[in-house]
Amino acid sequence: MKCLTTRFAPSPTGFLHLGHGYAALFAEQAARSQGGKFLLRIEDIDHTRCRPLFTEAILRDLDWLGLKWEGPVRCQSQHMGAYQKALDCLDEAGLLYPCFCSRADIRREIEASGAAPHGPDGPLYPGLCRRLSQDERAQKRAEGVGFALRLDMQKAVAMAGPIGWHDLGQGWQTARPDLFGDVVLARKEIAASYHLAVTVDDALQEISLITRGEDLFAATHIHRLLQALLHLPVPNWHHHALLADSAGRRLAKRDQAPSLASLREGGADPVALRTRLLSMKGL
Ligand code: GLU
Repeated sequence: MKCLTTRFAPSPTGFLHLGHGYAALFAEQAARSQGGKFLLRIEDIDHTRCRPLFTEAILRDLDWLGLKWEGPVRCQSQHMGAYQKALDCLDEAGLLYPCFCSRADIRREIEASGAAPHGPDGPLYPGLCRRLSQDERAQKRAEGVGFALRLDMQKAVAMAGPIGWHDLGQGWQTARPDLFGDVVLARKEIAASYHLAVTVDDALQEISLITRGEDLFAATHIHRLLQALLHLPVPNWHHHALLADSAGRRLAKRDQAPSLASLREGGADPVALRTRLLSMKGL
């Protein structure tokens, strides 16, 4: 039997805060408690938001907090070929289409239709470009109009059949990717979406238990579908509660939650902090 493998997969779009420290320790503990492996992955595909400075800080902060990961750190920006291969595979199965819409086009179409269905991530894409003919697509491409690649959700769900996953925290879940509509899997300026890259990498790194905050619970419906379409192995998940501040608000980079870097630079004791985080619920 393969050994249990977990990972922590931060995006270097800011400094890590206590909530990230908790998530990293959660993943490490889950592996260690079963004699398994803990890996680190840097999810740095979004070059418009990720910065090397934050990657460096992540590595320093996790090391400071006493985390020990195995093997080399996988940086997604160095593996774009793997995501392209997955896109090609979905394209060959007839599951992708180019979407030339701008955000404004989509907004206008939704406003005009009056009653746009909503999914967990907001209003669903109204399908404008799904209905384009091959000639119309070819013409737009020839004109040099930039495009994203969307998954034809109806076809994808029909191809995958019924799917679900086992969540160690919440039990068996029926996957409902259809609720998200035609999700974007590659953008004009970013060649692979988070959903695609995370799914491919979790398989390539043989992650058998995906631990992450419950803010990403909904994304698992899409990841489970992509696994089915790409014939990838199915791990278990454990979506854990998020750390909150004293007012009960979840910690977030954008709200200036105290960063691990500022605690480190301010002389905090990492052993005490690790012990405090480890004593929190769920660990
Ligand atoms: N990179 C994602 C983030 O920082 C997390 C990915 C995951 O755990 O699936 O929010």
